[in-house]
Amino acid sequence: MAFDSLSWLDDELIALDAQHLRRSLATRAGPQQATITSDGREFINFGANDYLGLAADPRLADDANRATQQEGWGAGASPLITGHSEAHTELERRLAEFEGTEAALVFTSGFAANCGTVAALAGAGDAIYADAKNHASLIDGCRLSRAEVHIYRHSDANHLAELLGNSSRYRRRLIVTDSLFSMDGDFAPLAQLAELAEKYHAMLMVDEAHATGIFGAHGRGVAEHLGVESGVHIRIGTLSKALGSSGGFAAGRRSLIDWLLNRARSYVFSTAFPPAVAAAATAALQIVRDEPQRRQELLARAAALRRQLTAQGWNLAHSESQIIPLYIGDPRRTMQLAETLRERGLLVPGIRPPSVPAGESLLRISLSWAHTPAMLDKLLAALADCWAGMRGV
Ligand code: PMP
Repeated sequence: MAFDSLSWLDDELIALDAQHLRRSLATRAGPQQATITSDGREFINFGANDYLGLAADPRLADDANRATQQEGWGAGASPLITGHSEAHTELERRLAEFEGTEAALVFTSGFAANCGTVAALAGAGDAIYADAKNHASLIDGCRLSRAEVHIYRHSDANHLAELLGNSSRYRRRLIVTDSLFSMDGDFAPLAQLAELAEKYHAMLMVDEAHATGIFGAHGRGVAEHLGVESGVHIRIGTLSKALGSSGGFAAGRRSLIDWLLNRARSYVFSTAFPPAVAAAATAALQIVRDEPQRRQELLARAAALRRQLTAQGWNLAHSESQIIPLYIGDPRRTMQLAETLRERGLLVPGIRPPSVPAGESLLRISLSWAHTPAMLDKLLAALADCWAGMRGV
C-alpha cells in the first residue's frame, strides 16, 4: 500500500484532543447580534467583537447594497491594478479624517494590516521590540520582517528600556504593541512607550484593533483616551470589530501610507475587498461619530460588570475594558465552565493555548452595547452559581 504522507495529521489531532486543545467550528444561523443561533441552539452571545452592535445594523447593509448596485460585488484586482474603487477611496479619506492623520490605507483584514505593515517597516539590520502578548498578526509580521526581534515582558516599560539601551547598533528601531490586549482586556503603557520611542529614536506602531470606535473622546482608541496620540507614529485599526464590517487599516503621515502601498506585501499582492465592505465601514464610522452614547454606555456597563464579577470572586487581572477575562488556568476546567454556561443559554468562549500562554486559559466575556440589562443579569446569576460550584458551596 502507498505510504500515507498525511497520516501524521490524525496523530496530531488525537494528541490535541487528549490535551483538551482541539478546536472545531460551530455554524451560526442568522445575523451576528446579542442573541445568536449556533449549531441550531439559541444563546446570549458574549463571543463577538461586535462591541457597538453594528454588525447587523441595517444602515451598514443598506450602504453595502447601494455600493453593490453602483460598483458591483467583486473588487476584481489588487488595489494597485484596478481593485481600488471610489468606495475604498472614500473610506480611506474618512478614516484619515476620523484619525486626524494625513492619510490612511485599508487592507483586506486587520491581520493583513498588521503583518504587512510590520514587515514593511523593519528589515535586516533593524530591531523590533514587541510586547510578549502581542496579537498573532504582529508576531507573524515580526517573523516575516527578517529584523531582529526582542520580546519585552507584557506591558513592562522598564524591560523595554533595558532592551533599547542596547539598540544603537541597529539601523532602525520599531516598537510594536496592541493598545488594548485582545484576551486580557488591559492597556499597553502607551505614554511610557512613546517616551522611550522618542528617547531611542524608535518608531512606535500601535494596534488599536479592539479599541477603535470604543476609547477616546472621538472613539479613536486608547492612544486618544490616554492623550498620547502625537507620540504614536503608525496607527493600526480594524473595521471588523466595533465597526461591524471587515478589513483593517493603517493611518499616519502621507509618506508612511505611500511606503506601505509600495512595500506592504499583504496590500500589494492581495485583491482589494469588495466595495460594499468599504461602504459598510464608512457607514459605521459615521455612526461612531453621530452616536457617542454607544461607546459611553458600553464602557459604563463594562465597568459595572467588572466590579460585580470581582465581587463574586473571579480573577479579572487587569482588565480595563469591554473585554473581560475570567482567569481559570487549566484548559479542561475552562472548557467545562464554558459548557456549563452553554447549557444555560450563554455563549462565553473558553480561550486556550495557543491563543493564550499555557496555564492562562480563560473565559472571555466580550461585552456589546447591544446586550440588555436582563442579559447581563442572566450572565451574573449563572457565573455566581459556577463560582459556588467551583468552591464546593
Ligand atoms: N489585532 C488584534 C489585537 C486582534 O485581536 C485581531 C483579530 N482578532 C486582529 C488584529 C486581526 O484583525 P482581523 O480580524 O480584522 O483580521
